[in-house]
Amino acid sequence: FIDVPGAAAPAPIALSYELFPPRSAAASQTLWTTIRELEATDPDYVSVTYGASGSNHDTALELVDRLQLETTLRPLAHLTCVGGTPEELTAVVNELLDRGVRGILALRGDAPRDGALPRGALRYAQDLIELIRRVEGRRCAQFAAGKVAIGVAAYPTRHPESPSEVHDIEVLLAKQRSGADFAITQVFFHADQYASLVHRARRAGVTIPIIPGIMPFTSLRRVEKLAQLSGVAPDPALVDRLRSAGDDAAAVRRIGTEASVRLAEAALGAGAPGLHLYTFNEHGAALDVLARLDLPRPSRPLLAARHRVAAV
Ligand code: FAD
Repeated sequence: FIDVPGAAAPAPIALSYELFPPRSAAASQTLWTTIRELEATDPDYVSVTYGASGSNHDTALELVDRLQLETTLRPLAHLTCVGGTPEELTAVVNELLDRGVRGILALRGDAPRDGALPRGALRYAQDLIELIRRVEGRRCAQFAAGKVAIGVAAYPTRHPESPSEVHDIEVLLAKQRSGADFAITQVFFHADQYASLVHRARRAGVTIPIIPGIMPFTSLRRVEKLAQLSGVAPDPALVDRLRSAGDDAAAVRRIGTEASVRLAEAALGAGAPGLHLYTFNEHGAALDVLARLDLPRPSRPLLAARHRVAAV
């Protein structure tokens, strides 16, 4: 699903973006402007988030459908599982596969506060990976071109509910053994957190690519909200710099872009095989970061041909 480069130099870097399903007609219009701008950069795939407990099931599938039908982009469908029954999740996986989706990011989602789950419900992302592999196995005649690519979440800083970073690595290894093909990281603020995750994972036997998730830090409000939602403490020095820029939007954007570029460069320096940019459905900041990185990307005859047609 993602071509992780071999030994050729300079190694191509996989590129992907995260989008979320729009919540209104106006949001949909903004999103589609974003999608067209991002499409021009020819990413390897775009991921589409999925609400906890399938709260946005219909809009998520609609966006996946439109990406497949109306763009050249390959969707990676996020899917959350906690609290869902095997029957419910099998139905959603089949819906995705029927639509031609061949990449799923298998996630747990937010656990219920009291921890209580319906009888027989899935509990962990690992359960969902195994379920997807079972569904795929039953439909194997249709998969002559290869199996479904399954991505999972990985954590440069301890997952808030995990007892330790060691446990996080055990969970990542378990997800690999259950059939995960690659991992995308949670947001992080220090490159050494990513490098340490990769180092610890490799030492434990995790061999799948671990793609750093990079957030354009171009909004203090968003940095703080994300920190709250994910439990990842933001870099206080970055927060100070963004805060000191106040209402000067150009300065905030310059400071945030600079910080994201430095983080992405350091992750690439630590051996990252790709970058996953959290876009928040806006292309401007993501493309600012990308423009500064000058990533080695494979040349795509298809895209070049499309541009030639467009130019005629
Ligand atoms: P898991 O891997 O199941 O881990 C959850 C917790 O359970 C961890 O503390 C882990 O240590 C523990 N655990 C896992 N397996 C076991 C086991 N076998 N035994 C004991 N303990 C175990 N959320 C959404 O709702 N929608 C999205 O679209 C979405 N996209 C995301 C994309 C990325 C790249 C990332 C990093 C996160 C995303 N999330 C999304 C958030 C995610 O759902 C949360 O981080 C959630 O709290 C954990 O999800 P997980 O898949 O890592 O869960």
